[in-house]
Amino acid sequence: MLKSLLPSLTSRCSLSLTPFLYLHPSTRRRLLPRHSPPHLSPGVTSLRASSSFSHDLHRMESESYTFGPYKISAKEVFYSTQLSYALVNLRPVVPGHVLVCPRRDVKRFIDLTADETSDLWLTAQKIGHQLESYHNASSLTFTIQDGPQAGQTVSHVHIHILPRKSGDFENNDEIYEAIDSKEKELKQKLDLDKERKDRSMEEMAQEAAEYRKLFL
Ligand code: AMP
Repeated sequence: MLKSLLPSLTSRCSLSLTPFLYLHPSTRRRLLPRHSPPHLSPGVTSLRASSSFSHDLHRMESESYTFGPYKISAKEVFYSTQLSYALVNLRPVVPGHVLVCPRRDVKRFIDLTADETSDLWLTAQKIGHQLESYHNASSLTFTIQDGPQAGQTVSHVHIHILPRKSGDFENNDEIYEAIDSKEKELKQKLDLDKERKDRSMEEMAQEAAEYRKLFL
């Protein structure tokens, strides 16, 4: 049922993402124009909410989420289970770069229970599948930076999911540099931080609302 809905969903969903202006100029140049998000058919601005959608939305809105020291607005969350939740990214590296976290405030991967580990990866698998299709991508990067020396900047376990396209980075593994905190520090040293802007809550809420429709 869901699969049969997807083609129409992907052709009808709109997502206006701010250009990735905060990337280093050399990295930006390497990004191809096909990063553009899918477009809506003219005149189609929203999908009708189903009752399960309303129910899921209500459930997600009534719950509270934390991401390390940050309180996460339910508007940023687009999918949740009893043990995990998925949120849109404040500073995505590519369109569809989202995070999946355990609900419990757990700093390191080793501290997850078996159930949390299993649920986290099953959630990531499901979300990756949908976002790859939504963004017309052809691959996925799943990555965890587990601990500060591995580049973790938010001390709450999270899987990065990044839809990937052919040639999106000149050298494929540069995506890790883009995610990595050392890269961020480097940008700051080079006084390029002005290019790294947090997205507005409105933009993030709009993106999360679009993704929620993929999991009805
Ligand atoms: P890491 O460097 O692996 O710890 O990744 C942290 C990720 O969290 C980065 O992709 C940030 O853009 C993202 N991030 C940080 N704060 C927030 C927030 N309040 N809401 C959503 N994403 C966030």
